[in-house]
Amino acid sequence: MSEKILIVEDEKKISRFLELELRHEEYEVLKAYDGRTGLEMALTELPDLIILDLMLPGMSGIEVCRRLRQNKQTVPIIMLTAKDDVSDKVMGLDMGADDYMTKPFAIEELLARIRVAIKRKLSEPSEKSEVLKYKELQVNHIKHQVQYKEDIIELTKKEYELLRYLLENKNIALDREKILEKVWGYDYYGDTNVIDVYIRYLRSKIDQKYGVDMIKTVRGVGYIIYDE
Ligand code: CA
Repeated sequence: MSEKILIVEDEKKISRFLELELRHEEYEVLKAYDGRTGLEMALTELPDLIILDLMLPGMSGIEVCRRLRQNKQTVPIIMLTAKDDVSDKVMGLDMGADDYMTKPFAIEELLARIRVAIKRKLSEPSEKSEVLKYKELQVNHIKHQVQYKEDIIELTKKEYELLRYLLENKNIALDREKILEKVWGYDYYGDTNVIDVYIRYLRSKIDQKYGVDMIKTVRGVGYIIYDE
C-alpha cells in the first residue's frame, strides 16, 4: 500500500512539480491550493503526511497546523517556508509541525525528510492511543491524567512515562535497557536500578493500593503488563 501525501500549496508550479516527483516515488498524491480546503482534506482523507506551505490564501499554514493538532491529528507535517521567515518557522514548529523546508529546496532533501517522517510515524506502537487501560485503570494522555475508577492517581513525570510505556507495549517483556532508553532517554547515564525503584513506586501507588497485580516482573529481563 502506498502512502498518501497531501500537498497544500497555492503556487501551482511548485505543487505540480511536487506532485510529479512524489508520484514518481509511488506515493499517492492529493492537492489543495488554499488553507481551508487543505484542512478539510486533511480531516476527511486522512493522509499519511502533509506538505504544508505557510503562506496560503484563506487560512495560513500555521492555522491549518494548529487546527489539525487541536483535532488530535498526529499526521506528520512538513512545512514549506520562505527563506527568511524565521518567526514563521518557529511558530509552525510550536504549532506541532514536525519539520520544515526552506524554499527553494532540493527535492532529494525533501524526499529524504518525507521518508524519515513516515517511517517515524509507522514505528510508533500501533496501540498508541489517547487512553490506555488496564482493568479499572485509565491513562488519559490528553489530560495527562491517571485514574483508577473515580480516584485520580498523582504520578511524577517519570512514573507516568514508565507506566505509559508499559501499557503501550502490553504483552511484551520489556528489558531494563530498553525501558531506560525509551523512558529516560539515550543521554541518561545512570544504571538500570532506577527502573526497579520506579516500578516499586508505581506498584505502591497502583498495584498495592487497588489490589491489582498489574506490573509483573520478568526474571532476569525486566517487566511486563499483560492484558487483563
Ligand atoms: Ca504560498
